[in-house]
Amino acid sequence: MTRLRPSHRIAPRALPALRPHRPHRPHRPHRPFHHLSLAVSASLCGLAALATPQAARAQQAADPLPLHHAPTATHAAITPGDLETRLYLYADDSMAGRRAGTPSDLEATAYIAAEFKRVGLVPAGDSGTFFQNIPLVTYASDTTAALTVGGRALHFGTDYVPLGRRSPRSIDGVQVVYGGRLCDSAAARLSEGQAAGKMVLYTLGPGGAAEQMACMRAGDRGALPKSTGIIIPGLQLLPPPFLASVRRPQTVLERPGEETTPGPMVLLVSPEAVPALFPGSLDSAQVGAPGATIEQGPRFTRTPAPARNVIAILPGSDPRLKGEYVALGAHNDHIGVNPIAVDHDSIRAYNEALHALGAVDPFSEVDPARRAAIHINVDSLHHIRPARRDSINNGADDDGSGTVALLEIAENLAATKHHPRRSILFVSHTGEELGLFGSEYFTDHPTVPRDSIVAQLNMDMIGRGDSADIAGGGPAYLQLVGSRRLSTELGDIVEAVNKTEAQPFRFDYQYDANGHPENIYCRSDHYEYARFGIPIVFFTTGQHFDYHQVTDEPEYIDYQHLAHVTSFVRDVALRVANLDHRPLVDHPKPDPHGVCRQ
Ligand SMILES: [Zn+2]
Repeated sequence: MTRLRPSHRIAPRALPALRPHRPHRPHRPHRPFHHLSLAVSASLCGLAALATPQAARAQQAADPLPLHHAPTATHAAITPGDLETRLYLYADDSMAGRRAGTPSDLEATAYIAAEFKRVGLVPAGDSGTFFQNIPLVTYASDTTAALTVGGRALHFGTDYVPLGRRSPRSIDGVQVVYGGRLCDSAAARLSEGQAAGKMVLYTLGPGGAAEQMACMRAGDRGALPKSTGIIIPGLQLLPPPFLASVRRPQTVLERPGEETTPGPMVLLVSPEAVPALFPGSLDSAQVGAPGATIEQGPRFTRTPAPARNVIAILPGSDPRLKGEYVALGAHNDHIGVNPIAVDHDSIRAYNEALHALGAVDPFSEVDPARRAAIHINVDSLHHIRPARRDSINNGADDDGSGTVALLEIAENLAATKHHPRRSILFVSHTGEELGLFGSEYFTDHPTVPRDSIVAQLNMDMIGRGDSADIAGGGPAYLQLVGSRRLSTELGDIVEAVNKTEAQPFRFDYQYDANGHPENIYCRSDHYEYARFGIPIVFFTTGQHFDYHQVTDEPEYIDYQHLAHVTSFVRDVALRVANLDHRPLVDHPKPDPHGVCRQ
């Protein structure tokens, strides 16, 4: 599942959201295993004072499984053992976090394709292969390049930082012009003619960087349309994690036409850099007053970043219906390797303590005072086991769990004598974490007719969901999102299938509520199908304290629960594939190119 953002469908604009890629978290101590909780809890002074029922439940959770698992051959039946074998391979450190656009995700997709082939599915990617190549590219700032103006060299990071690195306009030889105070509606405004072809330098009004950026995003862009870009002297106000994220390369889907239309250059500069850009006094400057001419602007690199979906078909048995598909999906990518290693046990104890304070995942907003009150005695932890430093995000649950479920369903259905009437389309998406890129590309460039897909069933994070992970969790816990948003009938089918199960699930629909702050409906691949009016069901066991952490590891997965969900999704797929009609769409279809709204 992708990180919570205002919207995935808002194209990157000149001003990205002023939010760090990862929230700043000081290095925190830790508690390794749940059975150590008694030894450690006495020293959890702050935490003890804040203990909640959830914390108590968390401490009662089962011990994790071993760190390593000897693989055994998988069978046609969907079993916890098969899923365990597959996930320990798929979420192994050697897979290096499966970031889309890196060799590690290509390796992951090679494994998936080999399994599809081994069990006998039909390739449905590009040119008779299992793969659909996705045009991702990586943009990076050249952090060694100086910006030169008036004979002075400004340095990346300390003097200037460019934002919105995707094809910004060149500012070599472009003159700076004063644009007035940011968001000052009473001030004189730059005319379109004054701004045309210029870099518009604003000064800050009252308030912090977030307010300045927010007011820019709100549309007070003055005469920007014809300008080359803008300069804001707010570099010193940015939080360090945001600066760090700007330094990191950014991998994006290059949509047709986008690469040829450079956007405005947005520069944040330090106050010390302003005199070079505008040698006169800004205090007495009139709006439109000319500044220096930039000799050389920021430099960027653009590198293709190969990535691919893996697509296969189990052919249907009914000659009349086999041209229709029930699509099953999961994402093969995760978030890669962190620049800094952390102590696994320490970070896990800290995130678990956050969870006990009500955080649905480690990125949730938590009252800073309560956050600061978390104290964990790291010495107690290391007394029991030395620190295990880790930088690899293995993504066992996200979305190793959905991926191995997809493979288990493939192996199971391929081994059955009587295929369902409709065909089953298996799509393993890449680039989900970077912004649903693989599913966007597949649904924009489907390898089967788009209208032949009668439903899409998405599995993302289906291997957790016990009471320590989520309020109301347990062996029968399953979250459903979007199941009736396009087709009431599809939602009803899921309920009906559940009634026939030996161990029915308790569905949690609370995350499907309109306007829910977690915005789950817009945060995984199913939405890319739904935007074209294809009914979807999103199956997940929900968020937890290892979400997007190095601690999302196979030893914390509940394989019984995972097998239970996998079998259920298989059963729903079979029911839909055997219907004599396609699920009726009785709700309005969204605008496929609009903004996702839950
Ligand atoms: Zn994710």
